[in-house]
Amino acid sequence: MHKMKEKHILHSGYSHSLLRSWQSPNTEITVDNLMYPIFLLDDPDAKDSVNSMPGVYRYGINHLKSTLQPLVSKGLRSILLFGVSNKLTKDEKGGNADSDQNPVMQALPLLRKWFPELIIACDVCLCPYTTHGHCGILNENGVINNDASIQRIAEIALSYAKSGAHIVAPSDMMDGRIGAIKRNLIAANLSNKVSVLSYAVKFSSGFYGPFRDAANSAPQFGDRKCYQLPSGSRGLASRAAARDVEEGADFLMVKPGLAYLDIVKQVKDNHPEYPLFIYQVSGEYAMLLHGANNGAINLESVLLEILLSMRRAGADCIITYFTPMLLDLLQPKRLELGL
Ligand SMILES: [Zn+2]
Repeated sequence: MHKMKEKHILHSGYSHSLLRSWQSPNTEITVDNLMYPIFLLDDPDAKDSVNSMPGVYRYGINHLKSTLQPLVSKGLRSILLFGVSNKLTKDEKGGNADSDQNPVMQALPLLRKWFPELIIACDVCLCPYTTHGHCGILNENGVINNDASIQRIAEIALSYAKSGAHIVAPSDMMDGRIGAIKRNLIAANLSNKVSVLSYAVKFSSGFYGPFRDAANSAPQFGDRKCYQLPSGSRGLASRAAARDVEEGADFLMVKPGLAYLDIVKQVKDNHPEYPLFIYQVSGEYAMLLHGANNGAINLESVLLEILLSMRRAGADCIITYFTPMLLDLLQPKRLELGL
């Protein structure tokens, strides 16, 4: 077979109209610029609120269609799926990340059938499914085994791709995982259909607190400072993005957003050819919501101002828990435009 460099595969970045819109940057905020994170529980009938994130729920698969239907009718174009394991057995290698018991694996074919136009991205990580709660596979001395980790992560990404994910989004921050995932997709003849959204520049951050509550994914010992980036680092941010570009990522992400807009601009300036995502993380969501609920700020106007600042800094798509509210805010505009 003709050998093509992973980064020379361009089709996977514009195989759908939504992906194409991310390739044409401006500062407007439309439904195309929003991706909605969904926490999918392994208990089909459950619907749990997340205490630290008012208005955010974790759903079992039986609630998925009714939850998404009204949002899709309002123009929702893409979601990011996270599996949450309450009951599934955890092990050293995250075996249940892609087993047939996994809620994401079960939901993918259904979502493709129910919402044929919806772009479905899947977070790819080990931490929700490992006994130790770390994002990779550990050696006996508790240190990350990078080779074993990226092999397992690439395996999970391929499982999600085969089950119907349009985009796989590795959030683990192991070295070399983008290349490993791309090589798996190429070998399975999926490289022109499935794109890779790299959590390229993911900082170790205090803003993730509420998420760990939502995803049951806090590490059992230690922290993630050996693989998530130190928050003061510009150089590593730059190298991480360049490395993932070199390995064939279709889209890049900076996470968190608001406290790292200088890094967003830096990544966009260095890689203007690549659509850039911001993950407006759980702590950013909670701060705004609590601030508004206490009367300190007007939620709508401050949220739109922040999203505008993210677009101005270079974000093409913002992953945000505020998506349902934003879809409502964008309704009159959609009607005006006759959409
Ligand atoms: Zn993880």
